[in-house]
Order: sequence, then structure tokens, then C-alpha cells
Amino acid sequence: MEKEKLLRQLPAVHELVNCCEPLDCPPQLLTDAARDVLSSWRSAVLSKGVVPPDIGSLAVEVRELVTKRMRSSLRPVINATGVVLHTNLGRAPLSDAACEAVLKVARGYCNLEIDLDTGNRGERYSHVEELLCRLTGAEAALVVNNNAGAVLLALHSLAQGKEVIVSRGELVEIGGSFRVPEIMAQSGAILREVGTTNRTHPRDYERAISPETALILKVHPSNFRVVGFTREVERQELVAIGQKYQLPVMEDLGSGVLVDLQRFGLDKEPPVQETLQAGVDLVTISGDKLLGGPQAGIVLGRKELLQLMKGNPLLRALRVDKMTLAALEATLRAYLENNAEKTIPVLRMLSLKKEELYRRASELKEMLCKALSKDCTIELKEGVSRTGGGALPVTDLPTTLVALSHPGISPSTIAERLRQGDPPVVVRLQDDEVLIDPRTLFPGDEKLLIEALERVLR
Ligand SMILES: *Cc1c(COP(=O)(O)O)cnc(C)c1O
Repeated sequence: MEKEKLLRQLPAVHELVNCCEPLDCPPQLLTDAARDVLSSWRSAVLSKGVVPPDIGSLAVEVRELVTKRMRSSLRPVINATGVVLHTNLGRAPLSDAACEAVLKVARGYCNLEIDLDTGNRGERYSHVEELLCRLTGAEAALVVNNNAGAVLLALHSLAQGKEVIVSRGELVEIGGSFRVPEIMAQSGAILREVGTTNRTHPRDYERAISPETALILKVHPSNFRVVGFTREVERQELVAIGQKYQLPVMEDLGSGVLVDLQRFGLDKEPPVQETLQAGVDLVTISGDKLLGGPQAGIVLGRKELLQLMKGNPLLRALRVDKMTLAALEATLRAYLENNAEKTIPVLRMLSLKKEELYRRASELKEMLCKALSKDCTIELKEGVSRTGGGALPVTDLPTTLVALSHPGISPSTIAERLRQGDPPVVVRLQDDEVLIDPRTLFPGDEKLLIEALERVLR
């Protein structure tokens, strides 16, 4: 009875709608939002007996819901985590040239599959194949939706119904849902595990070879390292075994790099050129990891193997669109023109010097101290950034962090409010502090970040 009375306090949908107007949105959206707000209060009354708010407060809720529904779901986010290749934040930010290239082909028509010289049908993959071959020394190349797709297509094309030999130390899971045994099963190839988690020897591979063997696969342990009593069969040794038994050797490198990262003081990731030069027949990499381009899977290697993949009907299900190809071509051109380190954001962020990051963090701290209430504690801390995206998992990139805390608002509440703001800001939480790493901030982000924190801590 009590609840009936409370329910009667809720206005009718049309009353609530009238109270919200004028609101610049399609009428149906407003009516739906009013109905949804009323319905959730009705449930709250029935389940918990809460007293519903007055019509004015309900109208505020409706307006907020409408605003949220009118806004894009996929939006730019400020990445203050210092994780350069953050898969949940879209991995590699594209270079200006790549963005411009996408815009140009997106707006209108393009020569995606037409040979402009002859007017005949052309090949969509041709736009990047020559460039990829020139940069890596590969005989042939192919681009698909992502690296998982590249591995799937390679296994399906070369080893369906046959065995593929993989070391037990390389049966990896790369986060999300890429797991070597599962992708193998999906491809129809039969996994032939050899060795142990920590040690695999050349003789383990040789013993497993039979007439059923189609391929020897090496997988780069992108996101972990095994240390201690270990033995990994080196690439050269695998190539020698492949040659001895006339079997192709494939290497899933994951994060493909085309430049020497050691120059930036980073650990060595095997460069694609080096892998192919060592005699590996097929190499697969991601477009949006250390390469710094769009999401894509790139296959490089021997022509006859690539030919088999190009003729596989599965390729149609994995094909890339014109925007991906445009972004990838522009990204690759930066490598060709030798200005990748200056223009590709991922490489720029990874190569930032400790001193420069200290300078940026100090400036940010000064500005925050001026802008925020005196209750906040804001200090500089030495710390590390991460490459992320399954690359260089144990490499510490030294940085300076801005650490922030507030006596009345918990760090997780600050982080939550920052995420829900506009633009959303994603920070790191550690040791009961909010941490901001300048490494992944773009020019102009600092100002927006300060404004966001002012709103959140007001
Ligand atoms: C990241 C990674 C993959 C998956 O690549 P996606 O482009 O994310 O599909 C596969 N293999 C290795 C070794 C990787 O590092």
C-alpha cells in the first residue's frame, strides 16, 4: 500500500517530457529517455521502497540520459597511463600522414581494385605489397585484418589436415583470445607440441618430423619471458632443420619492428628484415603494434607460399578495406622516407628521453599546483612507462610521473570521474595515488587534463 502511494508520486511520461523541453533532440529520443528514467525509479520504489525525486530532478536525469545517447559511443580518450600500445585504448595512434591518407580515400572513390594504366581489374593488396617488400626484403607480402587473421590464414593455407610443429615454450596466449593451440585448431592444422615449457632442443623438432608434417612454427613470446634454466631453439637452427627436411619455417613475430629499437635504449625485438634474412620462409606481424600503423596483419615471405594464401577463399573473409590500406601505406612510406621516428607517434613516444619526460612532468605539476585546490597533494615520482600491446614486456622505460591525491576523494573515485568526463581521461592507479605519465600525452592534452581534474576535484 505504501509503495502504491509512492508510485503515484511519479509523474506521467508526457508531464516529464514537457518539463524537459525545450531540448534539441528528436522527440522520440526524449520520450524514450523519460520512459526509461521513470521505469528505473518505479523498479527502485517497488524493490527498495525508496522515495522518488521530484519532477525537476527527474527532468535533470532525463536530460543527462538524452545527452549521453546523442553523444558518439566511440570517442577520443586522453591516455595518461604511459602504456604506449594500450590495446583497450586502440593501440597505435596514427601519424598525421596516415590520418590524411585515410580521409582522402574515405570521402570519395579510389583506385582500390582498378589498374589505372590498363583499366583492368587490379589487386587491392598491390598498393602496399611492393612497399613492404622493399622495406623488409621479402619476396612477396599480403595484408589482412589483423595478425591473428594472418596466422589463421597461413596455417589454413599451408597446413590444413597436416601437422605443425611448435615448441611447448611457445604455445602462448596474447590476451583477448589469441591462443596458439586454439587458432591452430580453428585453422584445421594439427598441433604437434615438442619440448617442454622451459627447454626445447633441435632434436625435439627433428624427432617430431614425419610425412604428416607441413610446417615448423616459431612464435614470439610477446608478453612474457621465461628465465632461468632455459633452452630455446634459435631461428637459425630452425631454418637449418627446415632446409634439411624441406619444410617451410614460419615465425609469428607479433609486434613487427622495422627499425632498431636498441638505439632508443630499448631491448631488442627481432626486426622483420633480420628474420627474413635468416631464412625464415614466412613472417607474420601486426600493423598496430610497434610498426605504429592501423590494425592489420602483415604476412611476408616466399612467393610460392604467399601465392597459396592469396588463392585461399578464406582471404575474402579477412580482407582489409581502403581506409586500412591508406593508413598502412602512409605509415610504411614514413619508413621508406626515413622519417618514421619523427612522424610515427608510437616511435616518438618510445624514444622520449628521461630528461624530456622530467621536464614535461615538472611543467604539468606546476600548472596543476596553480589550478587545483590546496588540499591536493601533487608531487613528482620516478617511475616506468610500458610499451604494452604484447611488446617488450619486461622493458622498463624510465619516466617521471605526476602523483596526485586528495584527502576527501579516493583515487579510484578520481579515476572513475575522469573516465566519465568529456573528454574521458584514463590514468594509472598505484599505491593509493593517481599517476599521470607524460609519455603518452599529446600536445594539447595537458590543458584538457588540467581542466578535467579541476572539474573532478571541485
Ligand atoms: C599480438 C600478437 C598476435 C595477435 O595480433 P593481432 O594483430 O592483435 O591480431 C599474434 N601473435 C603474436 C606473437 C602477437 O604478439
